[in-house]
Amino acid sequence: MLKVNEIYASIQGESSYSGLPCVFIRLTGCNLRCSWCDTAYAFYEGSDLTLEDIIFQVENFSLPLVEITGGEPLMQENVYPLMNALLDKGYRVMLETGGAISINKVPDEVIKILDIKCPGSGEEKKNHLENLKLLKPHDEVKFVLIDRADYDWSRDLMQKYDLPSSVQVLFSPVYDKLELKDLSKWILKDRLPVRLQTQFHKVIWSKNAIGV
Ligand code: SF4
Repeated sequence: MLKVNEIYASIQGESSYSGLPCVFIRLTGCNLRCSWCDTAYAFYEGSDLTLEDIIFQVENFSLPLVEITGGEPLMQENVYPLMNALLDKGYRVMLETGGAISINKVPDEVIKILDIKCPGSGEEKKNHLENLKLLKPHDEVKFVLIDRADYDWSRDLMQKYDLPSSVQVLFSPVYDKLELKDLSKWILKDRLPVRLQTQFHKVIWSKNAIGV
């Protein structure tokens, strides 16, 4: 059984898979409280579903790409059988995790989008940086930035851990807080080998849209 906040089809709005149709499985619960969180509705609300219920709903969308997200999806132990069941069914499986829990039990085939929490989130002390050693070449590391201080901190951390040479690094501004053009200028000035991204789904629908 897993507590599930929502299952829906949308356009991938984050990561380098941005723009692709995708089924999202949003699990309930989170161990963090980021200052800019846009999914607080997933902290407590949800329904208990069996693996079979979840797979049945996913299959009804007829899409090859599935992302497990939250909240923090790794808080529920049954997320591992879910990942394996989706892989066995032939889906390309992505996992978005807040980065405070070890990814050591996540199957290698799963594409992990590992968030590193910047100081502006208020949760940077919870980063489990050992995770950076467990990443595979297909995984991605995402920094969500609210201001210049977050940018400087992220640039220093990625250089310290030599991140660009091992995985795709994503820099994403907090929607409505940091201008894309400001972040773009900083990246260009530093010739930083990161992929700028925005929350594409918010551009398509609206910044407060849920379930799309
Ligand atoms: S990890 Fe994600 S869901 Fe949890 S508080 Fe931070 S932004 Fe919100």
